Amino acid sequence: MTTPELMDYAEVVDRFDPVLGLEVHVELSTATKMFCGCPTAFGGEPNTQVCPTCLGLPGSLPVVNAVAVESAIRIGLALNCEIAEWCRFARKNYFYPDMPKNFQTSQYDEPIAFNGWLDVTLDDGEVVRVEVERAHMEEDTGKSLHVGGATGRIHGAEHSLLDYNRAGVPLIEIVTKTITGTGARAPEVARAYVSTLRDLLKALDVSDVRMDQGSLRCDANVSLMPSGTTVFGTRTETKNVNSLRSVERAVRYEMTRQAAVLASGGSILQETRHFEEASGTTRGGRRKETSEDYRYFPEPDLVPIAPARDWVEELRGTLPEPPAERRRRVQAEWSLTDLELRDLVNAGALDLVAATVAAGAPPADARSWWVSYLAQQANNRGVELTELPITPTQVARVIALVTDGSLTNKLAREVVDGVLADEGDPDQVVATRGLKVVSDDSALTAAVDEALAAQPDVAVKIRDGKHAAAGAIVGAVMKATNGQADAKRVRQLILDRCGA
Ligand code: ADP
Ligand code: MG
Ligand code: ZN
Repeated sequence: MTTPELMDYAEVVDRFDPVLGLEVHVELSTATKMFCGCPTAFGGEPNTQVCPTCLGLPGSLPVVNAVAVESAIRIGLALNCEIAEWCRFARKNYFYPDMPKNFQTSQYDEPIAFNGWLDVTLDDGEVVRVEVERAHMEEDTGKSLHVGGATGRIHGAEHSLLDYNRAGVPLIEIVTKTITGTGARAPEVARAYVSTLRDLLKALDVSDVRMDQGSLRCDANVSLMPSGTTVFGTRTETKNVNSLRSVERAVRYEMTRQAAVLASGGSILQETRHFEEASGTTRGGRRKETSEDYRYFPEPDLVPIAPARDWVEELRGTLPEPPAERRRRVQAEWSLTDLELRDLVNAGALDLVAATVAAGAPPADARSWWVSYLAQQANNRGVELTELPITPTQVARVIALVTDGSLTNKLAREVVDGVLADEGDPDQVVATRGLKVVSDDSALTAAVDEALAAQPDVAVKIRDGKHAAAGAIVGAVMKATNGQADAKRVRQLILDRCGA
């Protein structure tokens, strides 16, 4: 296929109004699969996390994972949805080798959650309300690996390998209503929606929301209609969008591609398309099935789900503060500039700083430790901040030791190094490495006398009233005490000894 012509973006938004619809699949972080007891851990040896049920063997029967239902309801509530009084699973029938049952157990016209919304804040502060059509439960498929072809796709491959470890992992699919009226900002709205949703799911602690590992996936539906008209155009559904940046690029690319097709008198094919990260383009996939093609029918092997209203209300009580609100609150409480807040969020340090503050540290100190020294250590080790072997409580303790004068900043960094090297809690590291600031006067006075004796000319200057000269002696004492002396106290002692 030749590369389609693209229309200049400014012209696209001048001539057309985009319509978006976003489908987000989120893999839940339950310990076991949706309908069987197999573990869900990522990255296991292929086909080691399987059983007759998730392999679809004859005679096996599914049982619903209660934790997955609970997560689905909490997600629905956090998205301001109504929760179904009664709903069922359905079989979505199609053949694909990565789906051994030949049907996906999903929900169709009876989703567990429906009719919600999510407010999304754009970079300039504008808030767009995205309406949510439904959030339903389903199961993931296995994975195919196509071997031998140049592209890693099935076309041209010599053979394919199948790994069913992921088959049956609980998924929640969250589908928006059509998003209209966003004009030129459609790509930005799409990214901001997925980003906001990701933060919310993370705060709910229902998924690890790793787009790079596929635990959060977005399909972007895009169509165009001539500016000023109201009849929706035909949409395409772009899959394989694996990062927030790609969501934005994929929507923008589809807008420029579709506009070029429509402007030249062509029509848009309703199809799924694949986003290609490297080129930033989308490529045509299969013609879109209609729901009739799937021959949906209610799943006969599972009982309906009728969540008790008091349970739903109990779950509502477990919802976290919405991340956007929390950020606004924290920004005010910690007196952060917009930039400082953004750095904190981008560094993935907000929770860590909050926990350090909760453990008693002043916000400014907590922030500075996490975004500078600890961020450096994480970077050196190639791990996330959260993966560093130090807890917020330990960081708060180090900060307290600096505040009360037991440690200098330099010593504090050594204590942190000790904690990171698995030498125990800050107090243990201080004890075993002997890192306390020396402010014991007799020890310091001896060091001061020694330093003064070694630099008699400096001593004379100080005695003559040149207090600035004391700096050289302070430096000598700090050196002699391995940086463990209390510098302020040393300075005072020098002046005292010199009668200055
Ligand atoms: P499918 O089974 O095709 O994935 P879904 O109902 O799961 O259908 O999702 C379709 C998504 O596309 C929804 O978010 C819906 O709002 C959106 N959508 C429907 N029609 C259009 C359109 N003409 N242009 C853009 N988005 C659309
Ligand atoms: Mg869908
Ligand atoms: Zn299983």
